[in-house]
Amino acid sequence: MQRKEFIQKVSASTFLMATGFYSSMGRAIEQDQGMIITTGGTISPSAMGSTLVHEHILSIFGTTAQEPAEYDDSHALNEVVPYLKYIKSLDCDTIVDCSAAYLGRNVRLLNQIAEQSDIQILTNTGIYGAANDDYVPDYAYRESAEQLARRWISEFEDGIQGTDIRPGFLKSGVDGGSLSEIDAKLIRAAAYTHLETGLLLQIHTSGNTTAANEQLAILEEEGVRPEAWVWVHAQNTEQVQDLVEAAKRGAWISLDGLRSPNFLNGKRESESSLLHHFEMVKTFKEEKLLDHILLSHDGSTYPPEGTAKRPLDPLFNAFVPMLKTGGFSPDEINQVLIENPAKAFTIKKRTF
Ligand SMILES: [Zn+2]
Repeated sequence: MQRKEFIQKVSASTFLMATGFYSSMGRAIEQDQGMIITTGGTISPSAMGSTLVHEHILSIFGTTAQEPAEYDDSHALNEVVPYLKYIKSLDCDTIVDCSAAYLGRNVRLLNQIAEQSDIQILTNTGIYGAANDDYVPDYAYRESAEQLARRWISEFEDGIQGTDIRPGFLKSGVDGGSLSEIDAKLIRAAAYTHLETGLLLQIHTSGNTTAANEQLAILEEEGVRPEAWVWVHAQNTEQVQDLVEAAKRGAWISLDGLRSPNFLNGKRESESSLLHHFEMVKTFKEEKLLDHILLSHDGSTYPPEGTAKRPLDPLFNAFVPMLKTGGFSPDEINQVLIENPAKAFTIKKRTF
């Protein structure tokens, strides 16, 4: 279905459902333009502050798909809240939680964590197509891209999991190689969702340049600009030039695998994670493309039992000092930590 046709169809169905409630939601969407949506409500982009763009506060990765995910709430709060207060003390204002539906999303608990930690959190809509489709529900195979988009748009309009908490972005993912049929459908549904909502599309792509280009082609077909799309786990790409090319087209490049020097037992490995990220950011500075870079840890603060936590502090404790001594100015650091996330996550339709 072509973009115009889809918009007409969506508008028609919105019109058919146009109770007072729906038309007031229509106005709410208009008012969201230029705003950022946290679990606690909308904020202005200037209030986003220093932001971690890709973390997992609550996660069930590696276990059976569940939506909403169930946790021992008081245990989770006891584990996570003191840690996030510590992260906040390092000068972090906002955390983007990338645990998708079926993969750990529980927005009521997430918002409680935000309130008690006094930190802003964004949650997401969408379906995660990476991990060999283990977290793709059966209906996603039966339904069309338009039907999937309708589900996600309705979370944007009405709230998630029966709450009034709305997504601040869309999270999806693709597997290795060329896009599978289901992954291509998820990306098309993501494009339709963007056209209606202006939500940023964070797509787990890792080092898969083929899939990155195929995604950008689908978005373009549907009239969505690369500025609406984040190449998630871009640090795994072998050729940094592939990332530079995508950034030149307008895409966001998420270097989100920062590890502390003492993380796990692989000291050498983690030191090279910092160096690896540093070299990539330096390349983008040289290419004058720092305004396309996002940084984070893909950390995990409350993983399933038996899975290691991954910290959220190396950016502040190790990487920013490294940038400073490596010749990055305070303005350049603020650009990457504050200005880029505010721009990327602002609700805005980015269309051709
Ligand atoms: Zn992740």
